[in-house]
Amino acid sequence: MGILEVKDVGKRFGGLQALGDVNLSVAENSCHAIIGPNGAGKSTLLNVLVGKLTPDTGSVMFDGQSVLGLSAHKINQMGISRVFQTPEIFGALSVLENMMIPCFAKRDGSFRMHAIENMMREKDIVDWADRILADVNMADKRHMHAASMSRGDKRRLEIAMCLAQEPRLLLLDEPTAGMARADTNNTIDLLKQIKSERDITIVIIEHDMHVVFSLAERITVLAQGSPLVEDTPENIKGHPKVREAYLGE
Ligand code: ADP
Ligand code: MG
Repeated sequence: MGILEVKDVGKRFGGLQALGDVNLSVAENSCHAIIGPNGAGKSTLLNVLVGKLTPDTGSVMFDGQSVLGLSAHKINQMGISRVFQTPEIFGALSVLENMMIPCFAKRDGSFRMHAIENMMREKDIVDWADRILADVNMADKRHMHAASMSRGDKRRLEIAMCLAQEPRLLLLDEPTAGMARADTNNTIDLLKQIKSERDITIVIIEHDMHVVFSLAERITVLAQGSPLVEDTPENIKGHPKVREAYLGE
């Protein structure tokens, strides 16, 4: 049994079968990539996993517990955290102030708005936020305005904000989309470091095959809402069906 077990999940949008009979088993503390062409249903699947969408059929179990019908907030509390396709940070706030939001949410058990000045008075939480910033090598950027950072650093901050919630399962939807090569490589290194230092399972949706082959232990290829094949990176690279359907050969 994997930490995440998706069984026969289907999801329709009107006449469109976005997901049909998706089965996925993700081993604890592994990195599992989901690849596939645009419109294959990758983001829809992620939205099901985080409780943003309810599937029409099938089941999703996380650590032996069903997540179906639970609120996104409850699923987050169970230990599933997600990095969005477009950065979701507060540009007007500093790096440290951004970090305070998930750190408070973790302590309070809910996302409530606190005045920034009040948050910054809580030394324990500031220390905790700083510890995670140090973990992701951002300590020197703590007072920078989030909006002024590179795409790669914004992504790094977002990942740090997820780590503050101490997730057991980290979901990433195209984390290197729109990044320059140097930022992409930095993101790969960060995710490798997180994998090696923490007990964490990673599910990553990614277009860039360099990222996928650098990180994933298993790869599922999704095409038209269904898994085409699931295998190791080595086997996926040589798979004729994958070359044809996905790599366009
Ligand atoms: P991917 O992330 O693999 O590119 P998506 O999961 O975003 O694919 O989309 C799968 C299909 O479902 C696409 O055809 C998309 O247009 C459609 N779709 C996604 N979300 C919605 C929605 N909320 N309403 C209607 N159709 C949607
Ligand atoms: Mg998508």
